[in-house]
Order: sequence, then structure tokens, then C-alpha cells
Amino acid sequence: MAERREYGGPAMDQVIGLCKRRGIIFQSSEIYNGVAGCFDYGPLGAEIKKNIKNSWWQDMVHRRSDIVGIDCSIIMHPDVWRASGHVDGFSDPLVDCKISKMRYRADQLYFARVAVSGEVIGYVSVLEDAGMQSAAENQAHELKRKLSKQGELEAIILRPYTEATPQEYALIPSPATGKPGSLTPPRAFNLMFQTHLGAVVDESSVAYLRPETAQGMFINFKNILNTYRIKPPFGIAQMGRSFRNEITPRNFIFRSREFEQMEMEFFIPDDADWQEWHQYWVNTRFEWLKGIGLRGHLLGLDVHRPEKLSHYSRACTDITFHYPFGVQELEGIAARGNFDLTQHQRASGKSLEYFDERQNRSYLPHVIEPAIGVDRLFLAVLCSAYHEEQVEGEVRVVLELHPRIAPVKAAVLPLVKNRPEVVNLARNLYEKLLKMHYVQYDKSGAIGRRYRRMDEIGTPYCITVDFDSLENGTFTVRDRDTMEQHRLTESEIIAFLAEKC
Ligand code: ATP
Repeated sequence: MAERREYGGPAMDQVIGLCKRRGIIFQSSEIYNGVAGCFDYGPLGAEIKKNIKNSWWQDMVHRRSDIVGIDCSIIMHPDVWRASGHVDGFSDPLVDCKISKMRYRADQLYFARVAVSGEVIGYVSVLEDAGMQSAAENQAHELKRKLSKQGELEAIILRPYTEATPQEYALIPSPATGKPGSLTPPRAFNLMFQTHLGAVVDESSVAYLRPETAQGMFINFKNILNTYRIKPPFGIAQMGRSFRNEITPRNFIFRSREFEQMEMEFFIPDDADWQEWHQYWVNTRFEWLKGIGLRGHLLGLDVHRPEKLSHYSRACTDITFHYPFGVQELEGIAARGNFDLTQHQRASGKSLEYFDERQNRSYLPHVIEPAIGVDRLFLAVLCSAYHEEQVEGEVRVVLELHPRIAPVKAAVLPLVKNRPEVVNLARNLYEKLLKMHYVQYDKSGAIGRRYRRMDEIGTPYCITVDFDSLENGTFTVRDRDTMEQHRLTESEIIAFLAEKC
């Protein structure tokens, strides 16, 4: 359930408005009225996404000697998904409304009994969201008024539909119609997309689009051991597309049907202190998220209670983010024991054990898995960076993106466009910088408007070429966040951008 606490970020409408206005993200297949749960990233969005992924890869793979990166196929042998438990168990509880044909996830559909002075007068239902408690209370007051009941309305205690009794199914109103009697009991709905391999379409050719990237690391564990000089503790990392046929994709890019993941399986000796390693990865990942610009006060930790853990899981801590629609999982860090390697060893009949020469024994390593969705992180990055302020009587929208993540690192702006010496100097500087960074050149409009355009897409530095530049070879460098300006020479600008970006 979405935790309720004071929210200090932008509203969802502001973030979506910016994405639309500046072409950062589009609904997929928009000219055909869109397809639910799929999104396209425009030129700036694609840059931000690449920068997020590159930062993760640099810090998780390149800058560590104990982690290697791989890139696996999306379609794998169907037995992979049988062994991993996805064919039997990767499902969400689905509830149908027989009248409206709407579908809900039972664990995101909440209901409450409405009682007035000890008498139950009906039920209310709401969809999970930060404001659901007050929405349910309003519905309860309305029900009491409609039925003209006198007396005191008792406290409204929301529970997920997964906890409803068979008698209650018929009494809980559908959120679509507001009337009881049309909701079905929950049933398991497998989230994997199916396809067929080859020309024959029957049971024997069924294959799946991967719902996570993690299994690629487990089934290649032995390949990596056999071909790289590496031994536990070590990690295998991967980023790439995953697909889940989510019942209710929602909240923009937070929950979609096609998305990208960045996952790492960290293999440790079976007798290592797994709690210490788990804590290490929780801390490392938390600091990394802050390091790429997520605001600390919007981040949190959710340590799963033992009864919430899957049967093979030893511990799981989610790093949460306070999105405009509530506190939600951003990244999960799970201690998975040796469940996955055991399953694949059993199902494939191939040994996946590691032989430790020093100890002269074989064992199946245990795993700590930090897993994060790129798109979910993208949304958290935007919510952290979006900022509005009043400047000289106008609203200034600024994306305070970390320079590593900013799509455009600097903009070169000639102060005037009708003086060839100024324009040529600006073009010259622009072309030099372009060899090192993604920079843009903008000559149209008043300088103030050009600054605002760059602020809104998060360009950290605007470099203005003016008449003094012709005289003394210095340029004005304006900082996006402080709006302060100072003058630097060309070589100082090159060194400055190299350090900052
Ligand atoms: P949730 O409970 O929100 O469905 P999950 O616990 O099933 O997520 P995992 O299987 O642990 O998610 O996947 C790892 C990460 O992948 C999540 O922390 C999230 O960032 C991302 N992710 C999972 N499902 C989606 C989705 N449908 N859309 C976007 N990102 C997703």
C-alpha cells in the first residue's frame, strides 16, 4: 500500500506536461490512439535514458574489477521459465467487473465495510493511490446520506480485495459502476507474454518474452566461470528490455508492459556472511541513486517482513521513491540464497557448482540481486529534478539534472545573429565542443528566452559569445541552477566541461 507522508516534489501533471511540451516521452502508437503500457522516448528522452544506463554500466561494470557485463537474448528456452518458477507462479491476482469489462489487480483494489452505529449499511471500494483513504471516507458519507441513516459513521478500514471473503465478493461495489454484484473472485493471471518459435503454432512451439533479465545471468553462470578469470564473490550484470503483461499499467512510465531493467547477480561463497553483503549492496545502491541526482528526502527503504518474502528469499529491501502518486518501489535488493542456480542445475542436468581450488570443494554460490527498472528510475530522476520558481515576474521551469544525466551538456549561444564575427566565433566554439560532448547551438530568439529553453531541458551550462569575446577571447558561462555567470577562455571551458560532465 502506498505509504502516506509529506511530499516535497512536483505534481504528476507538471512532469507529464514537460515531457509532452518538449517531446521527451510520447505514448506509443499515438496516431492510432496509443497502446496501453508502452511508451516512445523522443530525442531528449532517448538521451536521458542512455545517460542513466551508461552511468549504471560505468559504475557497476567498468569501475569495478569484480563485476562483468553480459547481453542475453530476449527469447530463451522455455524450460528456463519453467525452472525459474515463472510459468507456474509469475502471476498477479486478476479481478473482472462483469458489467464494465474493466480489470483490476486484486492487491491494488481496496474495500471497506461501512457501519453506522454498529449496523453494516454497505461497502465502498477504491483503487490504490495516495488519496484513497479520503476517497473511501467520502463514499461512505455519501452512502449514509443516500440511505438516510442516522447515527455515527464508524472508522473506514481499508483492506485489499485479496483479503475479501467469498460472501463479501458479492457485496463490494465495482469501482467502475459503483454498484455491488459484478466483481469476480481474484484469479491468477500469468504476466508473461507468449509467442511461438518457428512456423508451427502449437503447444510445442510456445516461447516467452523475458519478464526479467536476471535469468540470463544464472543460465550463463558456468559460461562466465569457464571463460573469465573470476571467482566468488563476483557479479554478472545486464541491462535490457523486459516484458510483463501488467493488468493495470499506470502512472505514466512507472508501470508499463515493455520496459528496461538493470540487474546484477552478485555470487558469494555459500559460507560467506550474506547479511553483510546484502547490507553492502543496499548501501551502495542507495548512495548511487543519490549520486546521480535523486533527492535524498524522496528516497526511503522498505525492509520486507519475513512473511512478505517469497519462499526462497532470505531477505529483501526495496529502495523506495516518493513519486507524486505515493511511495513506491524503485529498486529491489534481494538475498536469493542459491535458489536459482539450484533450480537450473536440477532442470538442465548440468552442474553449476563452483570448484574452489583453495578449499578443495565444490559448492553452489549464493546470490544478492540489486534490480532496478530504467523507466521507473527515469521518472524518479524527472521528479527529483523538476523545479519551478519565480524569476523577474515569470515562472522559470528548470530541470536540475545531474550533468551526467542531462541530455545536452552545454549550449553555445551567439548574443546577436547579425554580426558574422560573433556568429563565426560561436560556430567555431560549438564545433570544437561537439567533438567532446553533446552540445547544442541556438541562435534564435532573445537571449533570456534561449536560457529558459535550456533550463527546461536541464542543460547545465549556457555559453554566450558576445562582443567582449571578439576582444579578449573569453565567453560567458551561465550556471543553470544558480544563474550565475563568469567568463572563461576556450581552453578553460574545455577543462571545465570535462570536469563537470
Ligand atoms: P512491482 O511490485 O512494482 O510490480 P516487482 O517487485 O515485481 O515490482 P521486480 O520483479 O523486483 O519488480 O523487478 C525489478 C525492478 O524492475 C523493479 O524494482 C522496478 O524498478 C522494475 N519494474 C518491474 N516491473 C515493472 C514495470 N511493469 N514497469 C516498469 N518497471 C518495472
